[in-house]
Amino acid sequence: MAHNIWNYPNTKLSGVLSLSREVGLYHCEEYNATKIQGILEEAFNANPQWLEGITSGCRVYLKLNLLMKKKPEDAVTTHPALVEALVRILQGRGAQVTIGDSPGGPYLPGRLKSIYRTCGMEEVALKTGAALNYDVSETLVHFPEGKVSKAFYLTSATTKADKIIALPKLKTHMMTKYTGAVKNLFGTIPGMRKADYHLKMTNVEDFCDMLVDLNLCVKPALHIMDAVVGMEGNGPSGGTPRNVGALLISSDPFALDVAAMSLVKINPQSVPTVTRGVARGRVGQIQDIIIQGSDLNSWDIKPFIAPKLSGHVRFERIPEFITRFIRPKPVFIEEKCKSCGDCVTNCPPGALTLVKGYPVIDLNKCIRCFCCQELCPQQAIIIRRNPIGKLMER
Ligand code: SF4
Ligand code: SF4
Repeated sequence: MAHNIWNYPNTKLSGVLSLSREVGLYHCEEYNATKIQGILEEAFNANPQWLEGITSGCRVYLKLNLLMKKKPEDAVTTHPALVEALVRILQGRGAQVTIGDSPGGPYLPGRLKSIYRTCGMEEVALKTGAALNYDVSETLVHFPEGKVSKAFYLTSATTKADKIIALPKLKTHMMTKYTGAVKNLFGTIPGMRKADYHLKMTNVEDFCDMLVDLNLCVKPALHIMDAVVGMEGNGPSGGTPRNVGALLISSDPFALDVAAMSLVKINPQSVPTVTRGVARGRVGQIQDIIIQGSDLNSWDIKPFIAPKLSGHVRFERIPEFITRFIRPKPVFIEEKCKSCGDCVTNCPPGALTLVKGYPVIDLNKCIRCFCCQELCPQQAIIIRRNPIGKLMER
């Protein structure tokens, strides 16, 4: 049943906001590359600082959200019309553009190829001449100022670029409630290395502290959010596409996320990437936000439906043998399952095995990261909540 647990108080900005305070917000009703190019050009003309330093010969990496092999209309991945529009603008400045992501699962050229094809990026590359990234090497980057992560293995596509522009998608998320600009950078970590973070940081707050570190380490020049069609409900892959009709631009991912949440009436203070940003001094007062382009109140969007939660539950003082039964858990629907084994491959602690073609879970090993649900191509995995556990969810 549809439910809105975020209970966002009103459409006016209130609460928290990133320190940089500037977000461009633009009406964009359809995925038409020419029209999007016009919107972006106008935005960049008004804010030339956003593309500062991108001149002839500059190597720009467009870090998309290509979570998995999904068609553009599924609203799981960054739409190709936005990518095409941006590529043309950057090429107009003489930049060498590379498109890519480290999707969920193994980071291999063959997998990238099939994801690029299905997500519409092969076509963008053909039309524009932009490169698709097939370099699956990684680079160790030290980040001594990190709170929970003092170093990251990053995709070499990220480290070799002169400038990074991230293109997140506005969606809900089973683990972190919302995924946008801050969480999008998890895709700068190569393939299965992402599983290490799920394993080491089973507490969602620690995981989000790592995301804050990662954002401060990678520091893209710009974030452009695809919120033309977002996703509500059980995102980031099993939810429902929802028209929003917006593009958001900011050099600050925290500011951008808070503005995007305000647009779709998600309470930013209930989202752990924001609360960790607040605790780290990355987020200040939302009243100070400067929204350019359009007035936030020129949208009237019904609140996004929240995902049926997630691991964002307090269990610290409860014995393990009890939490094993009351925490939400993945449940596998045999009729939908195609026995592809992706959930088994992507399970960080190896809690899943295929038995007679169907996944079987060892709940003692399961860390409730929900990567299996996120990456199942058939939506054959649901998250079942125990009635007692539900009462404890925040
Ligand atoms: S549950 Fe989904 S990911 Fe797992 S084997 Fe079945 S179809 Fe594949
Ligand atoms: S079974 Fe699913 S939720 Fe549990 S650890 Fe594996 S991937 Fe994560």
